[in-house]
Amino acid sequence: MTVNRIRRLGLVNAFLVAEDDGLTLIDTTVGRSARAILDAASGLGAPIARIALTHAHGDHVGSLDALAAALPGAEIAISARDARFLTGDKTLDPGEPQDKLRGGYPVVRTRPTRTLAPGDRLGSLEVHAAPGHTPGQVAFLDPRDGTLYCGDAFSTLGGVATTARVNPRFPLPGLATWHRPTALATAQALRALDPARLAPGHGPVVEQPGAAMDRAIARGA
Ligand SMILES: [Zn+2]
Repeated sequence: MTVNRIRRLGLVNAFLVAEDDGLTLIDTTVGRSARAILDAASGLGAPIARIALTHAHGDHVGSLDALAAALPGAEIAISARDARFLTGDKTLDPGEPQDKLRGGYPVVRTRPTRTLAPGDRLGSLEVHAAPGHTPGQVAFLDPRDGTLYCGDAFSTLGGVATTARVNPRFPLPGLATWHRPTALATAQALRALDPARLAPGHGPVVEQPGAAMDRAIARGA
């Protein structure tokens, strides 16, 4: 399958994944991106049936309200944990590390129609836990072609990196990370899925990423 990447501002990605009932949009990038995303879907000749969010940061949910308004029938899915951020609830749970939340968590009008838990399926996509960057980040694995849509668990701009450590060549995802030890454990868990392809929130899609993920995990440890 082809990975359909929509790039905004040169550094933020959304993806369109083909399903039998239309397209799944993974993340919405920054604000004012709805038109570009809808045009990309038109170019693929299919409607967007659902929006799947990896996490609640502003550069991933930035065009959620505009897209939800343009796509009234679309399913809107995000983890139950990160869904709370969308309402402005930035409390941490007693069992969670009490580290400071980093990065922007905007309040949005749109409410998810479905909240996700690890182990769920969303269309063809498997939902995998990917906490650390945010408390409730998830990654989506497409078992049809081995593509791992990893959100900000890894970035590939300036080289494959985890968010367990700030990458000096592209510091943004690392600086916006909530709890680095958890982010490192997530990077290891996602590596163990042995993805054929890494499709991150920031940076190009990387084919056969295993060795580069191993090096990134070693640097992040
Ligand atoms: Zn993020």
